[in-house]
Amino acid sequence: MLRVVPPARPRKLAKVPFVELADGRLQGVVSSGSDVERVYVSSVTAGSHAVNCSTNNNRPCGGLRGSLLCKHLHALADEALLQYGVYQVARYLRVDVGDGVDSGAELFARMEARHEPTPAAVVFSRFLRHLAYLEVPASTAPVPELHWFPATAGVR
Ligand SMILES: [Zn+2]
Repeated sequence: MLRVVPPARPRKLAKVPFVELADGRLQGVVSSGSDVERVYVSSVTAGSHAVNCSTNNNRPCGGLRGSLLCKHLHALADEALLQYGVYQVARYLRVDVGDGVDSGAELFARMEARHEPTPAAVVFSRFLRHLAYLEVPASTAPVPELHWFPATAGVR
């Protein structure tokens, strides 16, 4: 029934429930370490290596204030390497990894990352569609998780 591509290596789904290479970005959803109700949307743009992290309500991640890279971005990159393998991630983001890297931290060390806000709602709605695809039997009924989204979310 499920046609999801299995990850190259097992992933920690509870920590990073969603990771994808799409829209010219490595992007995904990362659970808050402290608050189960909260998730962060983290992204790295291919080529420019602009990074962003915010809550699903578009509040900037506090972890970005002190340093450029918060723990969510590190977790996202770690999980992307597990999901897609080093070379696919590096090729997509256009990072020269030489002989390869073993962690998100090493991957970021090869980029000149800079902060640039990107709307979280687009990524988050993709995550919800992904959840719906995984868990909801085929149906034309509306997906309740999407109801709280304003119709204009993501349009900028
Ligand atoms: Zn963060």
